[in-house]
Amino acid sequence: MVTAASTTLLAAAALLAGCSRGPRPDEAGRLDHPHAPGSLASPTGLRVVDFHAHWDPRYPLTMLDRMDQAGVAVAVNYSGGLPTALPHSVRGERESGGRLRFFCNVPWRLIGEPDFVERVVLHLRECKTAGALGLKISKALGLGVPDPATGSLLAVDDPWLDPIFEEAGRLGFPVSIHTGDPQAFFRPCGPENERFEELTAAPEWCFADRDVYPAWEELYAAFLRRVARHPGTVFVGVHFGNAPEEPARVAAAMREHPNLWIDTAARLPEIGRHPPEEIRAVFAEFPDRILFGTDLQVGPDVLVLGAGPPEPSPADVETFWRSTWRYFETADADIPSPTPIQGRWPLHGIALDRAALEALYHGNAERLLGL
Ligand SMILES: [Zn+2]
Repeated sequence: MVTAASTTLLAAAALLAGCSRGPRPDEAGRLDHPHAPGSLASPTGLRVVDFHAHWDPRYPLTMLDRMDQAGVAVAVNYSGGLPTALPHSVRGERESGGRLRFFCNVPWRLIGEPDFVERVVLHLRECKTAGALGLKISKALGLGVPDPATGSLLAVDDPWLDPIFEEAGRLGFPVSIHTGDPQAFFRPCGPENERFEELTAAPEWCFADRDVYPAWEELYAAFLRRVARHPGTVFVGVHFGNAPEEPARVAAAMREHPNLWIDTAARLPEIGRHPPEEIRAVFAEFPDRILFGTDLQVGPDVLVLGAGPPEPSPADVETFWRSTWRYFETADADIPSPTPIQGRWPLHGIALDRAALEALYHGNAERLLGL
């Protein structure tokens, strides 16, 4: 999720920020000291690719600092691919020695232009030339982008947009797509809602009003119809396939659609409340289609740990990383939530074996992105 603060930040007028510290030589994309004292890296020492992150592309070193702290070798920016952001993303990739990568974004502000779809297709091609590795579609599609013809919300599977998804496939772009949001956000948002704390901090994420927003089920169905319509395009259903509350349903969707992958970003509290064998079954059935992601949002004055306030304490940062690794690597049943604002229940770890961790942390991402 992107907070209002970081959206403003990322959308701010593009000014070249000076890079006072110069590039970091890191040809292999590996860290020199993954186990330095105080490191929050995975105890396994495995290489990690963060497939789902957001940072202000004008400040690449800020992101690299965060990655170094947690032993992340390479990260993908889902917020670095608007036309105005591209020059910064290109520079960040170069100066980071390829550790900072980026996906394209759709310039939805052009939605009213008569040649909108054609312009987006052209943007995707330019983005590819600039070095982008995929396309990210935010939850705004389905929950915020208006249909210029009618003024009502544009559906996730509106055929008008088909050429964009077809072009992504032709360009070899995986399409990371966020559709809907936690199911709780679609229920009445009062104190009885289990996500009341988060909805109080971000009231704009309450989608309970059926006069304004579609039902969660409607959005999810449109997402799967979109995936089904473009078998030549790989889709990454972010946030555990957009349905972390229902792992069996996620598995069924992946079974039905061989072009559907998922990432784990910002949903460990949701999957971590299920019996671990349920989640382990999804990993066992689809070891090659699950990607590690954090949903970290990083800017010069902002750090959001997947969810929550923009200024977490050092203790929050430590809990975020240690709980993340513990969830995947141990069978502990008392793991504190990495993102407590999403619900303060403990997580039950799934203790993936080393081969599964290798695939999750870097192998699948490297194969999909050609890294
Ligand atoms: Zn995100």
